[in-house]
Amino acid sequence: MKAYSSLSEIKEAIKKGETSCRELVEFYLRNIEDNKHLNAFLDVYAGEAREHAKQVDKKIAEGTAGKLAGMVIGLKDVLCHKDHGLQCGSNILEGFKSQFNGTAVERLIKEDAIVIGRQNCDEFAMGSSNENSAFGPVLNAADNSRVPGGSSGGSAVAVQADMCLVSLGTDTGGSVRQPAAFCGIIGSKPTYGRISRYGLVAYASSFDSIGIFSKSIEDNALTLEVIAGKDEFDSTVSQSEVPAYSQKLQKKDQPYRIAYFRNTLEGEGLNEEIKTSVEQKLQWLRDQGNTVEAVDFPLLDYVLPAYYILTTAEASSNLSRFDGVKYGYRSTNAVNLETMYKKTRSEGFGTEVKRRIMLGTFVLSASYYDAYYTKAQKVRRLIKDATDELLSSYDFIIMPTTPTTAFKLGEHTADPLEMYLADLYTVQANLCGLPAISIPNGKDSAGMPIGLQVVASAFKEDELFAFSKYMMET
Ligand code: GLN
Repeated sequence: MKAYSSLSEIKEAIKKGETSCRELVEFYLRNIEDNKHLNAFLDVYAGEAREHAKQVDKKIAEGTAGKLAGMVIGLKDVLCHKDHGLQCGSNILEGFKSQFNGTAVERLIKEDAIVIGRQNCDEFAMGSSNENSAFGPVLNAADNSRVPGGSSGGSAVAVQADMCLVSLGTDTGGSVRQPAAFCGIIGSKPTYGRISRYGLVAYASSFDSIGIFSKSIEDNALTLEVIAGKDEFDSTVSQSEVPAYSQKLQKKDQPYRIAYFRNTLEGEGLNEEIKTSVEQKLQWLRDQGNTVEAVDFPLLDYVLPAYYILTTAEASSNLSRFDGVKYGYRSTNAVNLETMYKKTRSEGFGTEVKRRIMLGTFVLSASYYDAYYTKAQKVRRLIKDATDELLSSYDFIIMPTTPTTAFKLGEHTADPLEMYLADLYTVQANLCGLPAISIPNGKDSAGMPIGLQVVASAFKEDELFAFSKYMMET
């Protein structure tokens, strides 16, 4: 069977009798088996997916199937899926099973998507290379000596190597867009609050967003349309209506107004080949009659520091619940309550998670709170105001998704600061709560994929998808 790259192709093939959900599930299961060495899946629900496929095939035959019939999906290991394992790539949740479905997962299943498995990721979604998982790293399918990006590395590789059609990941600072760029696929994060976070294990609650990996813009748009929208279980979710994104992919008639940051494109640290690929795209946009302008954004120097102060602060609070009492792992070496807490957390969490809990606790400590946490909140506001202001005169901001293409395993593990630089261009959208997407934009001379990032104003996902489709059709 050939690999399909969109649900509409699949639906067409099912209609013509060329395939069925059962055959699709077999195809993906075979690919998962053949690509085991990539370590993308932590759990594969073969029996269940086969059974579910039979039911969906029956519904299709009867004309009662949901919008996502024919879509086989994978879930990052931070999303609650009732009665299935959930470990956030960590030993501290050893043996834990979800008691309920997260809202996004529930909505996908309701529309007849078939869940094929649970995907590897950096522990508690902290990382940029998928090397922080307690279950070992995920390998990039384009070159097995390179990382897939993180933290949703397993979810990206699963789509890259046709182990499922669509994956749900999460993006707190780039964890969907950055691995999408490294793996040559599409990765989007919507506006903060567009998708309910109910059933998503929190890393940094004011940044966290579910994000979507796919090979086609249509599938990305359709998946968002299904999972977005108000939800009584998340008080931060937006009440505004969800447009039918998949029906609004037509480019607008007037030329677009696009900004790019001079200091990004001309700044140090940006790989030359990525720079060239962005410049070529900008030139193409100009040639098409769009307005493309360079702007200065001096606050760019502060996006990473603000992000890492605020997210570690939130993480230190969110992760305090993993104490050996309520969930998963409990140390057996403890002699009293206090050592039980200490040993459970010391043994259960990995190095990067502990580093962030300590950093976060430090920036929130009474004597340093104002110097770090309060200041970073103020900086966040300045960045948000400046970005919103810019987007009031332009439709989109275009940036590289990443400063480099996928790097070698182990290349940045010795120095956490070096690893944090991988998020240089992605964290701004999360600091500002804005929708952003990474689309494939060529390859470097080593054959590794390059991503192009587009950021839009809040709740302009429809325009973001239409514009991305327009750019991908060249
Ligand atoms: N790499 C970033 C971090 O480690 C982003 C993570 C994410 O988006 N979940 O914080």
